[in-house]
Amino acid sequence: MADSFDLVVIGSGPGGYVAAIRAAQLGMKVACVEKRATLGGTCLNIGCIPSKALLAASEKFHEAESGLAAFGVDVGKPKLNMKQMMAHKDGVVAANVNGVAFLFKKNKIEQVVGTGSIPKAGEVLVTGEDGKKHTLKAGKILIATGSESTPLPGVEIDEKQIVTSTGALELSSVPKHLVVIGGGVIGLEMGSVWRRLGSEVTVVEFLDRIVPTMDQDIGKQFQRVLTKQGFKFMLGSKVTGAKTAKSGVTLTVEPAAGGKKEELKADVVLVAIGRRPYTQGLGLEALGVALDKRGFIQVDEDYQTSVNGIYAIGDAIPGPMLAHKAEEDGIAAVEIMAGEAAHVDYNLVPGIVYTWPEVASIGKTEEELKEAKVAYKVGKFPFTANGRARAINMTDGLVKILADAKTDRVLGCHILGAEAGTLIHEVATAMAFGASAEDIAMTCHGHPTLNEAVKEAALAVHGRPIHI
Ligand code: FAD
Repeated sequence: MADSFDLVVIGSGPGGYVAAIRAAQLGMKVACVEKRATLGGTCLNIGCIPSKALLAASEKFHEAESGLAAFGVDVGKPKLNMKQMMAHKDGVVAANVNGVAFLFKKNKIEQVVGTGSIPKAGEVLVTGEDGKKHTLKAGKILIATGSESTPLPGVEIDEKQIVTSTGALELSSVPKHLVVIGGGVIGLEMGSVWRRLGSEVTVVEFLDRIVPTMDQDIGKQFQRVLTKQGFKFMLGSKVTGAKTAKSGVTLTVEPAAGGKKEELKADVVLVAIGRRPYTQGLGLEALGVALDKRGFIQVDEDYQTSVNGIYAIGDAIPGPMLAHKAEEDGIAAVEIMAGEAAHVDYNLVPGIVYTWPEVASIGKTEEELKEAKVAYKVGKFPFTANGRARAINMTDGLVKILADAKTDRVLGCHILGAEAGTLIHEVATAMAFGASAEDIAMTCHGHPTLNEAVKEAALAVHGRPIHI
């Protein structure tokens, strides 16, 4: 193995592997150090990809159970084949991680298996599983070590009865009662998987609403839809302890502000209170790489840390903890290293919850605009008034567009509804080009499509929707 590279990337998640490929395209000699046996990081191995595989599979089960009859398709009571469902998920993961390995070969990127640390700028020390050490010389170093599930004191993870998202992707049977601690995106997605397969699901959330960063209009409706699906919510509540026994887990729950304790029994508990940056063992303290109060690596506008020649991206630095943000970071960081101009606008990073219906948002929420004292106009359009939504029996939800009161520039868009995660990209592109609500409203949209609801919401900004 060569031991001298223009760039050594530590971590092969969507940030690291995409950065490695782009750097190779730019002519750099690149190595990527990954401690996991497979490439792709959290996202491909234990995050985005397996969770979406299970969301898709469980949605099909649920549809067969209760969604198809309304279309005149009687299939009888479906039988769950959990082994096959998990095999589907594992197959999707394998195809994706092998795809990255192929791309590494194609781009002549050296894949180095082992744990990386940085004894000094310009050097990465790789420790293999067998303890053998190997030093790589690096013109530049890019830290892309990602994040890990945030632990909850008093609730010990065993990945069997008390699980993180990783364990929740591997359960061997459907729990009778699943308690999800944390009403954020990951908790609601994993809760949806098991709810559709028959679990009773209770979400315990510290705050008085789920997905607190979401536009509240949409958040409230989202909670209503999930409640209709059978989710139970204990808002403004905190879990302060957990006892496990063969028969299940007993949680101690009390009001967020403290008060009367109650017991909550579960077969499986999913701890999903958030994720925190993972930088353990890199040697950052000794190097003098500055972290912020929450442990994120501080970087400048060029993604350079406080130490010259050491860069960082993705979940390990501040900003939305999302795969596509990590990818954009990775591309921008290496293009800047190569002397090109690059910038990622974190305001235009779409956020998507892959429940059914989906929730998607971009730009500012109404609450953020109010707080910033920006004068805005609102346009809303419900899917109940959209022909395609009726045709597919998915009329839950709405499109909400926020535009500047003076200039009409689109400032934000929030969608609850079927395919929201796809629909939002029309608005993402429009916003990237600085479009006005009128620009979207004047664009001819195909009929009958769900996208027509986006056009109608834009028309509603100007008080002239057609179909409502
Ligand atoms: P990671 O993907 O975390 O990769 C970091 C890699 O670095 C890991 O492979 C790790 O093994 C390796 N590493 C760490 N330290 C070292 C070291 N010292 N030496 C060598 N290797 C090291 N985001 C979305 O955008 N969409 C989704 O649908 C979505 N769903 C998710 C579902 C779940 C259940 C979870 C947990 C996360 C989800 N995310 C989703 C978030 C997404 O996975 C992360 O934002 C993304 O993976 C961050 O990418 P990254 O490259 O920064 O780090």
